Amino acid sequence: MNTENIAGSNVDDEEIQKFSDLASRWWDPESEFRPLHQINPLRLGFIDERTPVKGRKILDVGCGGGILSESMAELGADVTGIDMGEAPLSVAKLHALESGVTLDYRKITAEDLAEEQPGHYDIVTCLEMLEHVPDPSSVVAACSALAKPGGSVYFSTLNRNPKSFLFAIIGAEYVLNLLPKGTHQYEKFIQPAELAEWSEQAGLTLDESTGMHYNPFFKTYRLGPGLDVNYLCKTSK
Ligand code: SAH
Repeated sequence: MNTENIAGSNVDDEEIQKFSDLASRWWDPESEFRPLHQINPLRLGFIDERTPVKGRKILDVGCGGGILSESMAELGADVTGIDMGEAPLSVAKLHALESGVTLDYRKITAEDLAEEQPGHYDIVTCLEMLEHVPDPSSVVAACSALAKPGGSVYFSTLNRNPKSFLFAIIGAEYVLNLLPKGTHQYEKFIQPAELAEWSEQAGLTLDESTGMHYNPFFKTYRLGPGLDVNYLCKTSK
């Protein structure tokens, strides 16, 4: 578990497999991916309000089946989505065809793309992905390298503390069954101070952070203060 697959690559094969096994249901809003569907309008709004996406060159790192990528392309952004899972990428490509939305999907790591296209993107998004890689700081550095000077880089992930263990693992996976058991590993969660430090080391300034909160009674999400569990950050290069 949690081991790098081939020498030097920052990819955890078990994590990739986990998402590939579920990929056929990625666009079913009642499936395991329901939380991503539910939070998407919130995070899309957060991004678009701060950095209007229309006409921007955007890279979505760890795009999965393309929920965020496609929604940004629909707003007129020029989007490339990258992921290391074949199955999620196939689903993403098919869905874009069905929707008639034009965007690019590629199987490549952020680190490799950063060598190929340094300073290429106005906006880089890396949401709900850092907690699934062996070395998240390396992905943060690659996202920074991929952004143009003055560009914006967004991250979202899960905080690591007793409350996030209770809410994101016990609550979401065992009590409310929002996510399959084993979706998340507590020790891979990332504290905001750690993300801030990696961002700073990568030459990014942390501009703003917000929490993403789930209300189990109304089954709704909202953005708001409090980074205890799910959180979303905007940084700039
Ligand atoms: N960002 C998307 C999907 C999140 S699920 C969204 O928020 O809607 C996490 C995704 O990260 C999965 O599709 C998984 O295949 C991908 N992933 C995990 N490790 C990766 C890596 N090292 N490089 C690229 N993608 C990775």
